[in-house]
Amino acid sequence: MAYWGVHHFVIRGTSEMALDTATLRASFGLMAFVLGLLFYFSAYRTTRSPYSGWWCIALLFFLFGSAAFLLNGTGHQWWANPLGNVLLVHGGVAVWAGARSLRTKMLKRWAFTVFPLVTLLASVVDNPGTNTWAGGPVFLAAMSMTIGLASRELWRLEPGYSRVRIPMAAAAGGVSVFYFGRLVGFLLDGPDGPVFDTFFGSAVTTLVTMVMLVVVSFSMAALSTEQQTRALKMVATRDDLTGLLNRKAFLDLAAEQLADPAAARASGALIMADLDHFKTVNDTYGHAAGDRALQAFAVACTDTVRSTDLAGRYGGEEFVLLLPGASADRAEHIADEVSRRLARASMADGVQMPTVSYGVATYDAGTAGMDALIASADAALYTAKSLGRNRTARSDRIG
Ligand code: GH3
Ligand code: MG
Ligand code: MG
Repeated sequence: MAYWGVHHFVIRGTSEMALDTATLRASFGLMAFVLGLLFYFSAYRTTRSPYSGWWCIALLFFLFGSAAFLLNGTGHQWWANPLGNVLLVHGGVAVWAGARSLRTKMLKRWAFTVFPLVTLLASVVDNPGTNTWAGGPVFLAAMSMTIGLASRELWRLEPGYSRVRIPMAAAAGGVSVFYFGRLVGFLLDGPDGPVFDTFFGSAVTTLVTMVMLVVVSFSMAALSTEQQTRALKMVATRDDLTGLLNRKAFLDLAAEQLADPAAARASGALIMADLDHFKTVNDTYGHAAGDRALQAFAVACTDTVRSTDLAGRYGGEEFVLLLPGASADRAEHIADEVSRRLARASMADGVQMPTVSYGVATYDAGTAGMDALIASADAALYTAKSLGRNRTARSDRIG
């Protein structure tokens, strides 16, 4: 991120304490290299967390990007200078991707291309052979934006994430603001102006970046471990075919919901769903198509229910939905909607999706527990099957 180049920097008024850029950059390079090794061997190799992986990649980009600027002033400057810009911006994008991975969100593919590409174009058309600041404003804006977006991702982490996310977010935010300041200084003052040189020059940039790296390495281990723990927990609670909650996780979370003292008078509905004649799907289209039908059903469920509802695979081709606060009417409506969505999935895939039978049971403060609730939805489901399938039966209307 530092500009290796022509600017000499001296803290004005303290003549005996001269911070020379070359020394600073050498220490920065060494530090980034050592941190990169530490990240790789301590965090990435042990946790395999995407977050630490992205950070190793970002450090490599920063190292090589900064190194490219060593060729400024030589005959290679015309290609090395734009390359340096592009590598550093790639580093910014990698920081962004790493922060985003904590929210288990992938970065859109265009982001990897657009920021570096625009920076490359701006640098190439700006006389990079003679101009050490070729594409400067675009480069500074791209750095400010990618690292600012990383900061935004870190702020948006759920509060359940450990507190180290706060210094991380603040450090990234600070660097983003700093680059924005550099951009403004560059535009108002030019790269050789006194304001830019004093506050936003290469030496200050190197120092700011070092501080950020220290903060990052401090929080690195904690966040990587946490990301790994969460990933393991995710694996332990999810059904691997459909991504819905597995049976045990569903029952645990649903029991918690029913026993929640804060929801003492809470009520809601449970839907038990069973795909109709599912054996025929397997027999007609093959087991793999059957698997895809189960996945399509899971997607239909998650697309229909609220984020606060619970959706689980109870086993085989049986599914359960817990809808806190829902009436039996609403549960019936949701079951219809799931079936409608599944039927629509048929067309796209070429496979005829099965119909589905549902049993609905409601709960309130008087409900004995999950076992009773499941048994009652199961009885309703049995009724729906015996009435001819492809329908919903309610426990309050049978027996
Ligand atoms: P009904 O309408 O009475 O529910 O008939 P059905 O054929 O759906 O019921 P049955 O219980 O006889 O068959 C369920 C089938 O679901 C049998 C089993 O091979 C299939 N199945 C269970 N789990 C999976 C899975 O993970 N993948 C696939 N492809 N099939 C599965
Ligand atoms: Mg079944
Ligand atoms: Mg079935």
